[in-house]
Amino acid sequence: MIKRVIRKILRKTNNPHPQKLDRTQHNLRSNMLSLAAKKTVNLLHQAGFEAYIVGGAVRDLLLERKPKDFDVATNATPDEIRKVFKRRSRIIGKRFPIVHVFVGKEIVEITTFRGNTNTHNEHGRIMRDDTFGTRQSDAQRRDFTCNALYYDPVSELIFDDVGALNDINNRRLVMIGNPTERFREDPMRMLRAVRLSSKLDFEISNNIKDAIRTHAHLLKAEPAARIFDEISKELLCSRAYKCFLQLEELGIPINIHPIFAIADNAKQSAGKHFLHTVLIKTDERVQQDKPVAVSFVLAAMLWSEVEKQQQQNIAQGMPPSPAMQTAIKQVINDNESDWGMPRRLLSMMREIWKLQPQLEIIKGKRPLRLLSQPSFRAAYDFYLLRAQSDNASAEKAQWWTDFQKASSEEREKMLFPPQENTPKKTKKRTRRKKATTKNTEQTT
Ligand code: ATP
Ligand code: MG
Repeated sequence: MIKRVIRKILRKTNNPHPQKLDRTQHNLRSNMLSLAAKKTVNLLHQAGFEAYIVGGAVRDLLLERKPKDFDVATNATPDEIRKVFKRRSRIIGKRFPIVHVFVGKEIVEITTFRGNTNTHNEHGRIMRDDTFGTRQSDAQRRDFTCNALYYDPVSELIFDDVGALNDINNRRLVMIGNPTERFREDPMRMLRAVRLSSKLDFEISNNIKDAIRTHAHLLKAEPAARIFDEISKELLCSRAYKCFLQLEELGIPINIHPIFAIADNAKQSAGKHFLHTVLIKTDERVQQDKPVAVSFVLAAMLWSEVEKQQQQNIAQGMPPSPAMQTAIKQVINDNESDWGMPRRLLSMMREIWKLQPQLEIIKGKRPLRLLSQPSFRAAYDFYLLRAQSDNASAEKAQWWTDFQKASSEEREKMLFPPQENTPKKTKKRTRRKKATTKNTEQTT
């Protein structure tokens, strides 16, 4: 279907690299945009500027996919954009200023067209990128051809300066310019290549693959927070499993982030099955538009390492809960700064892990206390996932499922089964008596 739509476009223009398509040549309509995106472009137009929907949103709409967000590109400078949107806008970004515009609950990201001149260091890395340019120069500064289409919802024209439609049609991820130079300018583009090709089901062109294999080590110098940001996008891109296979295939070093290193450990061990299950289930949830918590997925990806450490601590004589607390410290706390993760996510992961040994206890007063904890639900879901992968007791998982649905009377019975209501003293006395009789019988 998608292929046919784009083929039709290419036939109608009779040009493999059309530069400008009118509404009769493409299937994109302004009612496919969010109200916020449309309003943002309209206001910039009314103020006398050029403004386009650009990047992933145009690509996704042409592929009949739901865009994750809407980005706008304009010839207005950041200060001019602020004059249009006033208090509803904020300038962010160090190397290149970006303006965030708040419309209702939505944030639209506006960038000013980038120019051709920028400052590189001796390794080819972009150090400063603050010159402004035209739509054409802006297109050349984007990463892949499929990300460089400009749609003007007012005139309903699409501008393609880089042969993007042809590459989308052939489902190929093609770099704008020379991959080696572009990866040296910004190594994160290598991880973007893996994510976008997996998510869109595009073939990565051979020159990109070769350049990644030679330059992947450059990612080691990237700040942990930037890599973490990309990892969370990979987890939520609907093809996380494929992303992780591709990262390995393209030789992305595991030491670019502790998450990759720990997940790789799991792959070598019994944790492999659990890791696969987690990623596949996450992909299914994203594809069904169900919510996914990154903290939950990460807790699962790193679980086998945490569990391994806990077992070692138990073997050294610690009870399960303190052994878990120590394991968490061993895996995460000691080098928290290397993770570049928001604290909120780390503490959610810690909570999920911390409650796992407590979920093993299904008698007495503790289960009720556990049920009232704010992280109970996430910890229980995690236990269920473990049980499904034979990593935790299926009976206990079922017990917790029943316990949550049970009335208070039923809960009481589940926590204090009748045989345990018998006073301990009587029980002991009976047992001792029996033993004596037995012994006597045996000896006689
Ligand atoms: P999605 O939003 O679906 O994850 P996207 O392609 O829209 O994918 P964004 O991170 O939203 O990704 O970026 C918007 C656009 O900005 C991209 O389509 C691309 O044109 C450009 N872009 C983003 N990151 C880079 C980069 N590192 N180098 C060059 N261009 C980039
Ligand atoms: Mg986007």
